[in-house]
Amino acid sequence: MSACPAQTVTGDARPGSTPMHDVVILGAGMSGLCLGIELKLAGLHDFLILEQQAGVGGTWWDNRYPGAHVDVPAPLYSFSFEPNPHWRQRFAAASQIQAYMAHCADKYGLQPHLRLGVKITAARFDDTEGWWTLDTQGPEGHRQILTRFFVCSTGPLSQVRWPDIPGLDHFQGRKLHSARWDASYRAHGQRVAVIGTGSTASQLIPPLAQQAAQLHVFQRTANWVLPRMDRPYFALDRLLARFPPYAWAVRAFWYHLLEWGRRGFDEGTVARRGMLKTAARHLQRQVPDPTLRTKLRPPYPLGCKRIIYSNDFYPALSQPNVELVTEGIDRITPTGIVTADGRERPVDTLVCATGFDTTRLLASVDIQGPGGQRLATAWRDGAQAWQGVAVAGFPNLFLMLGPNTGTGHTSTLLYIEPQAQHMVACIRHVLQGGHRGIAVRPQVQAAYNAALQARLAGSVWSTCRSWYRDDSGRIVALWPGFTQEYVEGLAAPDFAAYELMPGVRQQASQQVSPEASP
Ligand code: NAP
Repeated sequence: MSACPAQTVTGDARPGSTPMHDVVILGAGMSGLCLGIELKLAGLHDFLILEQQAGVGGTWWDNRYPGAHVDVPAPLYSFSFEPNPHWRQRFAAASQIQAYMAHCADKYGLQPHLRLGVKITAARFDDTEGWWTLDTQGPEGHRQILTRFFVCSTGPLSQVRWPDIPGLDHFQGRKLHSARWDASYRAHGQRVAVIGTGSTASQLIPPLAQQAAQLHVFQRTANWVLPRMDRPYFALDRLLARFPPYAWAVRAFWYHLLEWGRRGFDEGTVARRGMLKTAARHLQRQVPDPTLRTKLRPPYPLGCKRIIYSNDFYPALSQPNVELVTEGIDRITPTGIVTADGRERPVDTLVCATGFDTTRLLASVDIQGPGGQRLATAWRDGAQAWQGVAVAGFPNLFLMLGPNTGTGHTSTLLYIEPQAQHMVACIRHVLQGGHRGIAVRPQVQAAYNAALQARLAGSVWSTCRSWYRDDSGRIVALWPGFTQEYVEGLAAPDFAAYELMPGVRQQASQQVSPEASP
């Protein structure tokens, strides 16, 4: 059943001409789909969602490694308007999340708007007309699309990062990145190396340890690990979840618990003391070997990097076929890995759980604003935006999950929904008002970022290296506060933060009677 009837995507209906749309969204992950749904609910049907992969899901399409699951409770990992009574586990597996997203795309009539296997390579803003020209590459080759609004919803975790280790390219065995997993791969009987011990590695190491003959885990930095309060959702849970008051109460419980957990990032709080004690107890209980325990003690304050929630990571490292290697990697040879002490470990498969390139946000698209100003140039000292959604100097461009909107304590969906609603309000305002465009005021963005960076300067996230920071050390990925603070900043679109560009008709009337409008 469709909540929104399928509509013709009107811009496609101009044969022979360059198709023109009100909105083009880059990326069919959670955030791109959410914006598509909000547009439809607002009665705006002339939009496309372009996705380079062959299906919807974004990071959940990409991350199909064994053991992949969400690390926040699933009742909070669904849209507020579309609770999911089908979760089979509190911390849902990647396949369940991907299925949920495909369900949302179907139910809300997004299929006619989706173009899969299409990459956007460049975007140029035409200041006179107030539209973007997009260069796309897809199954039909190179195509151009015109759009009034261009929304980038790729998020920070889309460009895979391979480790910068000499010899990587010459390795002759199997080489896998966690975010480009080969579903046919089986580790049975193999000698496997995993580089990295972050959130992703902590999830894929336990299943690999069960299969591999020998597993070498290369850890550069030990991380903080807390127990995962997981449990299966039984038939009764799923039945109860169909009743809105129950579903709402479960969601509200997790929302408030995780918001309380945000306090754990601040020194001296009860929450922090509790988390430190729990982490210490978890390590003590799960790792009997004192030498291994020492290797697993994090050298940075809790919360600086993303906290790992796992019950099976530590036990996997204690398996007899698993070795935790803390000696630094010197180089990769065609057949193995050599550590700084000169020892080579021969391996058949090299698994890189080395994360994502988060510092060059949107590097794969050449975005040029008015006068040919490039976004990459505007961001040469680090990505910044206003509320993570709009960039000064780039009219009619919006970002979903843009700079400083990541969260270390709760579900990213709580940030996605208000972003989408904010954008829809802006888009409507421009289209209905006959304006040519909308852009955030430079001074508003500058003041916002100055305050944000001042707040982040003394925070726990400034105390170590992580994907939250760019090369200069500036924290570009994280929102430092509570969810409500962020939501309130976006809830009622404050058009005072924006400059509106007069439309062609408005310009003409201004020329006839210059005193008519301010
Ligand atoms: P990550 O947190 O950036 O971890 C990358 C790991 O690779 C780190 O242990 C890092 O060590 C190591 N590494 C990188 N380059 C290396 C090199 N040259 N030599 C040796 N080690 C190297 O990446 P991730 O684990 O993929 O997680 C990224 C984010 O994805 C998470 O923080 C989380 O937000 C998200 N995620 C979410 C879920 C979920 O359930 N929602 C699941 C997985 C991931 P250092 O620490 O020393 O840099």
